[in-house]
Amino acid sequence: MMDGEALIDPFQRKITYLRVSVTDRCDFRCVYCMSEHMVFLPKKDLLSLEELDRICTIFISLGVRKVRLTGGEPLVRRGIMEFIRGMSRHLEDNSLDELTITTNGSQLAKKAKDLHAAGIRRINVSLDTLSPEKFKQITRWGRLEQVMEGIKEAQKAGLKVKINTVALKGFNEIELFSLCDWCHSNGFDLTFIEVMPMGDIGNENRLGQYWSLQDLRSWLSTRFTLRDIAERTGGPARYVEVRETGQKIGFITPLSHNFCESCNRVRLTCTGELFMCLGQEDNADLKTLMRKYPDDDSKVIMGIREAISRKPKGHDFDYSRQKIDGQVARFMSHTGG
Ligand code: SAM
Ligand code: SF4
Repeated sequence: MMDGEALIDPFQRKITYLRVSVTDRCDFRCVYCMSEHMVFLPKKDLLSLEELDRICTIFISLGVRKVRLTGGEPLVRRGIMEFIRGMSRHLEDNSLDELTITTNGSQLAKKAKDLHAAGIRRINVSLDTLSPEKFKQITRWGRLEQVMEGIKEAQKAGLKVKINTVALKGFNEIELFSLCDWCHSNGFDLTFIEVMPMGDIGNENRLGQYWSLQDLRSWLSTRFTLRDIAERTGGPARYVEVRETGQKIGFITPLSHNFCESCNRVRLTCTGELFMCLGQEDNADLKTLMRKYPDDDSKVIMGIREAISRKPKGHDFDYSRQKIDGQVARFMSHTGG
């Protein structure tokens, strides 16, 4: 139930969407996201599931209507299903419109049914290729077959699936149409994501991987007639409709500024830092506040309001000069994408 004044930032944007990274761990090692030998955080640095519940509940009391769980891989965190079942009380009393997850799909075969039973209706599954060999190459540790099985189970359980595909030059360019066809024939929405400069992932060449979505879109229009559709989510996605098939395709271009003015979201890391902008380092340490005031939510609320008052107008990513300006040192798996 909303019992506090809404969270409004200095640019009059209302914060209604919280993305929560529930773990920095993952069973994959995607090359654009992690190095092969990641050092993960000690358990004491992570918010406990009780702390995660407390902070999400506080945000919901301040007007957040949508919560997305991400990571790392959210479904590998121990106890995550109990946490999700607990959070579903906010769906039941209508204080939350949507609880959702972004997942690599590896655990879906086991968990899809329970996710649906807990009130989750839509999920995003990240998938960059339909080739088992290339899947192994890009995820290092993943198995395509397992993810495909998971996606099938998710569908069977009644979850609506959206596929997120990172556009990678020289990697999945040639699969553009087969990915579109596969998604269309299975009834999945599809969104392409431009690769972002995050973390120090070793010797992978990011600029070599960067495939602009403008190019991708031009390529798509060699076969399809694309119509821009107005649907906006307050986030960086833009959508087109394919006239020939009615398929909806999204483009997430985090490197462009064109979405910042409608940004409605903040991100909480698994260590309780609140990032007001994906592309900026500024954050607020909510974990320390929560641990200092275990029984006084008003102190945590003050900390959140103070943080929101510092939400910047936009980010500073810039590839245009062929070097990565505004690079953010933290890993995507920490902030949760
Ligand atoms: N493990 C889950 C997954 O893969 O869906 C959730 C966390 S993952 C960090 C969230 C999303 O971020 C995935 O769709 C992934 O492809 C994307 N991602 C990771 N690193 C990225 C990068 N450097 N640039 C763009 N997207 C990235
Ligand atoms: Fe894991 Fe997701 Fe990062 Fe891949 S993108 S390494 S699945 S957190």
